[in-house]
Amino acid sequence: TKYVYFFGEGQVEGAGDMKNLLGGKGANLAEMLSIGLPVPAGFTLTTEVCTAFYDNNRHYPEELSGQVKEALGKVEAQMGKKFGDPKNPLLVSVRSGARASMPGMMDTVLNLGLNDETVQGIIDQSGDPRFAYDSYRRFIQMYSNVVLEMDGDVLEHILEKKKEEKGVELDTELNAADLKMLVEQFKKKVQEVVGQAFPEDPEEQLWGAIGAVFGSWMNPRAITYRKLNDIPAEWGTAVNVQSMVYGNMGDDCATGVAFTRDPSTGENYFYGEYLVNAQGEDVVAGIRTPQPINKAKYKEGDLPAMEDVLPECYQQLLEVRSILEKHYRDMQDIEFTIEKGKLYMLQTRNGKRTAKAATHIAAEMVKEGLISKKEAVLRIEPEQLDQLLHPSLDPAADKDVIAKGLPASPGAASGMVVFNADEAEEQARLKKRVILVRVETSPEDIHGMHAAQGILTARGGMTSHAAVVARGMGKCCVAGCGDVKIDYEKQQFTTKGGVVVKRGDMITLDGSAGEVIYGDVPKVQPELSGDFAEVMTWADEFRRLKVRTNADTPHDSKVAREFGAEGIGLCRTEHMFFEGDRIQAVREMILAEDLTGREKALAKILPMQKSDFLGIFREMKGLPVTIRLLDPPLHEFLPQTDDDVAELASACGVKFSDVKAHVEHLHEFNPMLGHRGCRLAISYPEVYDMQVRAIMEAACELVKNEGFDIVPEIMIPLVAHVNELKILRENAVAVAEEVIKEFGVEVEYLIGTMIELPRAALMADKVAEQADFFSFGTNDLTQTTYGLSRDDSGHFLPDYVERGVFRRDPFVYLDRAGVGQLVKMGKEKGRATRPDLKVGICGEHGGEPSSVIFCHEIGLDYVSCSPYRVPIARLAAAHAAL
Ligand code: PEP
Ligand code: MG
Repeated sequence: TKYVYFFGEGQVEGAGDMKNLLGGKGANLAEMLSIGLPVPAGFTLTTEVCTAFYDNNRHYPEELSGQVKEALGKVEAQMGKKFGDPKNPLLVSVRSGARASMPGMMDTVLNLGLNDETVQGIIDQSGDPRFAYDSYRRFIQMYSNVVLEMDGDVLEHILEKKKEEKGVELDTELNAADLKMLVEQFKKKVQEVVGQAFPEDPEEQLWGAIGAVFGSWMNPRAITYRKLNDIPAEWGTAVNVQSMVYGNMGDDCATGVAFTRDPSTGENYFYGEYLVNAQGEDVVAGIRTPQPINKAKYKEGDLPAMEDVLPECYQQLLEVRSILEKHYRDMQDIEFTIEKGKLYMLQTRNGKRTAKAATHIAAEMVKEGLISKKEAVLRIEPEQLDQLLHPSLDPAADKDVIAKGLPASPGAASGMVVFNADEAEEQARLKKRVILVRVETSPEDIHGMHAAQGILTARGGMTSHAAVVARGMGKCCVAGCGDVKIDYEKQQFTTKGGVVVKRGDMITLDGSAGEVIYGDVPKVQPELSGDFAEVMTWADEFRRLKVRTNADTPHDSKVAREFGAEGIGLCRTEHMFFEGDRIQAVREMILAEDLTGREKALAKILPMQKSDFLGIFREMKGLPVTIRLLDPPLHEFLPQTDDDVAELASACGVKFSDVKAHVEHLHEFNPMLGHRGCRLAISYPEVYDMQVRAIMEAACELVKNEGFDIVPEIMIPLVAHVNELKILRENAVAVAEEVIKEFGVEVEYLIGTMIELPRAALMADKVAEQADFFSFGTNDLTQTTYGLSRDDSGHFLPDYVERGVFRRDPFVYLDRAGVGQLVKMGKEKGRATRPDLKVGICGEHGGEPSSVIFCHEIGLDYVSCSPYRVPIARLAAAHAAL
């Protein structure tokens, strides 16, 4: 097996489409070389090495060492240097590179190959002892941290002390002798902490670093990241070994990161940051403040741009930008180094971007003729749209801006301040909104960033960890906010203006403006026009699956229609029972002693329900509307406290003790499997009769008086046996026909059922005899298929996911193998009886992209989801069809 792929000028073994084997970084390095871009020579150990390593009890395949040796020889030949040679040493970087970019893994070791002998060679080569020893001490720091797993602060502390002794502030102010001494001190410390000498043998160093990359694939942070991002462990990572180039050899050297277009807004200008005389990680580490690449967005006070400082290099870089965009036909995120005026590319990949940028870039690239509409649609992740659909600050609202930082990731969010990731996670579990405030973030904070509404950091640029990760997550983020001084000990931060904000205080972030605001500022809904609307129109051209919404009120219906809903798939009638003082009438109905009492109360509810349906039908302008009849157990509507009981008793003119007794009588041990759904109507048919009447009166009235075209879809929940549906259907037809006769109009209507119990799915051919349509209630169907309470499992499901029992929460992601099988079978059996049976789903899964794709695959007619997820479902449905 070929485990090692060489890349170098004129000789490239890999290619851009070999990401599965070479990882993203390795494949792109090969690709850049083959389109003529300058890339330092190196080689990639494939992801198969990683897989073999773990399959084989952490041993490498036998052929590996020979192949590495051979590839290293080619690098040496190309660079005219030798690895480990004291006179003319080759130094390399070692980096991880999985298929998908993966924070949390061992990232980089630079300057590998240095030891007390080779450092002399570097001094001779460069004529710069300071540079040589600076590289050496960096190498020891990185290697001991990421390979020997030593706490990075230990050596950093020695460095800080050295600077203090010398009375200097910057690393660059230390001289060669200082750095040489540091190297000695570092090595001593490593021996002390790790219990073994720092490896001098370059070969040992190399295998150490390679081992650390493969080892980091299974570290807890990487595992967490994979879980959150749904990356299978079997993919493995590749390792890239590449000859070093230096951005820190003087003022004609630099290193930087850039995006070929603005990753926040998508605007078409070259966006990036660089540092003169610096090495790789300095830019992202947020230690020095990076300078802009060009002056497209120059503001007063900005540091000098590369365009002015290194104009020739800037020209080279511009050229690379244009070659890359034409070649990859997508916005690229690049890393580069300039060594003595010559540009080298170290990485390119499709750049992470906000949803706003994604839609803008996709729309523009179609206009530029770079990509097709299909590609544009596929470029946008459905889940990512969530960002666009979320609120921004109400421009009319008062706001007390207490600090300003970088607008690192757009959107607005408010929450209580917390200072560490664990607490963010804890509070979020308690349903608290939090803002995570950190000096800077690292991969260790990912879970907290995930839990928080927004992220504020004091340090770091637009390409810092916080900024990049927040954009990926679609969280609003203000980064590099030097205006705040954070005191972890006291759990508070102080702004430049002297405002002290303590843990638990409410703040608001505006990630589009970079503002930190005291208190909770009102927000407004986003404008859904422009690029977004355009791309969504394209998506609609490609999809087959219809997208409806779950909406209970005229207002929700309106929002959903603006989001592109093509009807209502689920109107939960009982949600309106809590509006205003309707609950009083509902309680009277439930507590009535007999039919006459119930009918009296139902007569009060009828006009209210009818007015709701009038409102909804009007908003939906003739689009299909599915209305579900009463579903939850009755006691959900009952008074909870004695005070409520007393109030109800006096309103109904009955004794407190009677009401109390009745309430207790209605108690159920297992209400979700109790007297609910259609079972209520088997006992009390008058309840559904009233609801059907309300629906039909509203429809007939609109048809008669306002010329509407409406076909109401009446839906009966929680059916297990066809006989339930048969009886309730007959009742409903009787009422509907009566109403139609009263109004003297012709109105069609459908009567269907939810499939949310396994028995209904198993018997779907029978059930379909009585149904005009099916709607899978996958919330209950998941609950009943797993026998897993949807209301209680939140406490222990995380353990299941954590321990890998479930890959993901089945209430969020439709369980294709189990529950999905019932859905598929239910649909097929139903259609076998009635080929024209309309079939959709209305559980929460209807707005979750992978579940939507499943619904497309098994041939459902529509999905129905909450209004805000309608665009996500539309896009997912398009992806499914492409
Ligand atoms: C369902 O069970 O999937 C459903 C849509 O109904 P509800 O969530 O109201 O039980
Ligand atoms: Mg249900």
